[in-house]
Amino acid sequence: MNVLFVVCDGMADRPVRELGRRTPLQVAKTPSMDRVAELGITGLVDPVAPGVPPGSDVANMALLGYDPYEHYSGRGAFEALGAGLDLGPGDVAFRCNFATVDKRGVVLDRRAGRISTEHAHVLAEALQEAAEDLGAELGVEVVFVSTVQHRGVLVLRGEGLSRAVSDTDPGEAGRPLRRCEPLDSTPQARRTAELVNAISERFREVLARHPLNARLEVPANAILLRGAGTLPRAKTLKELYGIRGACISAVALIKGVARMAGLELLDVPGATGSYDTDLDAKFSHALRALEGGADLVFLHIKATDIASHDHAVERKVSFIERIDEALGKAMELLDLEDETYLLITADHTTSLRTGKHEGDPVPLALAGPEVRRDWVRAFDEVSCAQGGLCRLRGIDIMPVLMNLLGKMGKLGA
Ligand code: ZN
Ligand code: ZN
Repeated sequence: MNVLFVVCDGMADRPVRELGRRTPLQVAKTPSMDRVAELGITGLVDPVAPGVPPGSDVANMALLGYDPYEHYSGRGAFEALGAGLDLGPGDVAFRCNFATVDKRGVVLDRRAGRISTEHAHVLAEALQEAAEDLGAELGVEVVFVSTVQHRGVLVLRGEGLSRAVSDTDPGEAGRPLRRCEPLDSTPQARRTAELVNAISERFREVLARHPLNARLEVPANAILLRGAGTLPRAKTLKELYGIRGACISAVALIKGVARMAGLELLDVPGATGSYDTDLDAKFSHALRALEGGADLVFLHIKATDIASHDHAVERKVSFIERIDEALGKAMELLDLEDETYLLITADHTTSLRTGKHEGDPVPLALAGPEVRRDWVRAFDEVSCAQGGLCRLRGIDIMPVLMNLLGKMGKLGA
């Protein structure tokens, strides 16, 4: 038996005025999600705890069974893992942006005119070369890679580093680049902040004289760093439960969380992490992985969250309906009576009105061979509040699934 675990990012919402005070899930036509609810058991999930708005890293950690209060150690590590870099214990990773600053160091554009991935790669090569030289001088290994568009990752490797340092990213345009400061009084934090400042300065020098920048309308002449993080010390799902798991996501942060859990990352052509993603391809790759012997496939879909951040009411409703269609096609091929447990939920609530992650619970539906059926027949925030799973925390989901798979050891005699 196996599990298909579908997570739609930020799909849960609050009542929306334009939708007659109903949520997008209440308004969208979702016969397939409703069918999961009807065939199985439902409930509400507090991703972290009631009223706590989680970041996607923390929320997806929790859904995979890792208590963020115990294991979370900064976003940068997940970004690095998601970008395909390996992290050792003690390495410190940062999320980076190519940015545009003026002569005084005031940030004009935090994304350097949304520089193309190709251009960013060219600049990143020069930065990596400079990073190697500087690292040799300072006694630390420095790795810089660009990922998609203006985004990148910086990793510091060596002894005596700390993630207790501040961001250099001021967070919005019109403000000056910040100096990296130690956030505690350890020599490790002080040294890490000094390294970050030296690297930032060297990067600005390299970018200022790079020939590509002379040709760009909006030059990418600085790197902003934020979210210092180290590798969480956590056992993989294989070590914990003896299962083989895989993850399908187009988002580096989620890929990083999945790698921490020891899930294999499956590459799906056409998966973009945006509205234009190929949902059918994502589901068919998930089904193939299950057929190939995976015990659990974690399938993450991003654009529901983007719609809420953009206050795009109609887009959110129509994208939910597209997910439902793709889910329906997959369900025709799944054996929910004897073989597969199908779980659908969201990683958190993202409000169309506020455009932010909120601390409201999310609906969950779970169908499969030995699941008790409750009376709920619709998948949404209000209907699932009547469900047989009642109210769970994010970290409760994995034990619930592993119990059904027969992978939970007995507590006691
Ligand atoms: Zn999220
Ligand atoms: Zn979000």
